[in-house]
Amino acid sequence: MPRLGKMQKELLKSVGSKPTTVIYPFTKEGLNIPKGLRGRWTYDNPNMCTGCKICERVCPSGAIEMIRCRPEDVQTKTGFRPICHFDRCILCNQCVESCPRGVLKLSAEFEMAFLDRNDMVIY
Ligand code: SF4
Ligand code: SF4
Repeated sequence: MPRLGKMQKELLKSVGSKPTTVIYPFTKEGLNIPKGLRGRWTYDNPNMCTGCKICERVCPSGAIEMIRCRPEDVQTKTGFRPICHFDRCILCNQCVESCPRGVLKLSAEFEMAFLDRNDMVIY
């Protein structure tokens, strides 16, 4: 039984060794998120936003929509602020790089599974 012998050797090698996979999504322990991963962007510093709409203009997938600032929002110069339809976002990072005020920031948040499409609109 030469085949079984080879298998036994492999089996013994793996006994006592650390698992190489992560039981995701039940745990994130051991998850190796690469540096520089393009995750979901965040509207990080609303006080700096002028409402210039550059982020909306450069977005290749039409994921950014400018809406009128609601009373509870920080009021921008133009009275508009961006929201994102992340179901359309291709995570190209163009909006983050183009924002002249550094308002939009790249994050490593990659979990974007929702049951309802409306939950993917991030205010
Ligand atoms: S490009 Fe920046 S400053 Fe201009 S509207 Fe977008 S987030 Fe605001
Ligand atoms: S990351 Fe790219 S696709 Fe997503 S909102 Fe920004 S510009 Fe649009």
